[in-house]
Amino acid sequence: MQILIVEDEKKVADFLVRGLRAEGYFIDWIADGSEAMGALIEQKPDLVILDRMLPKMDGLQICRLIRAQQLPVRVLMLSALAEVSDRVDGLRAGADDYLVKPFAFEELLARIEALSKRNPFTHIERKLIVGELELDLDTMQVKRSGNLLSLTAKELAVLELLMSSPQKVFSRERILATVWGINEDPLTNVVDVYIRRLRKKVDAPFNQNYIKTLRGIGYCLSAEI
Ligand code: CA
Repeated sequence: MQILIVEDEKKVADFLVRGLRAEGYFIDWIADGSEAMGALIEQKPDLVILDRMLPKMDGLQICRLIRAQQLPVRVLMLSALAEVSDRVDGLRAGADDYLVKPFAFEELLARIEALSKRNPFTHIERKLIVGELELDLDTMQVKRSGNLLSLTAKELAVLELLMSSPQKVFSRERILATVWGINEDPLTNVVDVYIRRLRKKVDAPFNQNYIKTLRGIGYCLSAEI
């Protein structure tokens, strides 16, 4: 399997090149985003590990070009940006997978293996489904009873957390820590505000409420009555 690494940070690139060569992959490395398309067309790698922030041409632009030109290459995007909206941007630009820096080398290997097994022309859907509610993890689109709901990035992040374990109760502190990265209680009601917004979009137009409040404990999502 041939892998092209597009990464401007020499330390990261060295680590990737050495580690992946030791695993038996054929590796090429370029640091300049503007050289990526030429290298892809010339070398026809099976996979490109594409850093998001690059000089001259960034990873998102390159990814869109790869898809626009229908190059048969899988794209694993790397980025220091961990926000849900950044992952969404990467996936919408056409990346097959997204890994946040710093990452464990073992995780990178596991993702490369998974991508190498995936036929680039058959798309495996990754979805969270609770009752009539559906969250597509590739496109971050949410549907209830087939109706597309329009959610902001933070609303999506809260919903993704609740949907990841239906019927599990999440405390406000846990939601704050996971979605906002705040670890001590800052005495804000931001979680309640977002739950209210989510309810308006996810529950109010439909005849059953999925988002439940457990007074004094937290919130959970369940399709059970
Ligand atoms: Ca970079």
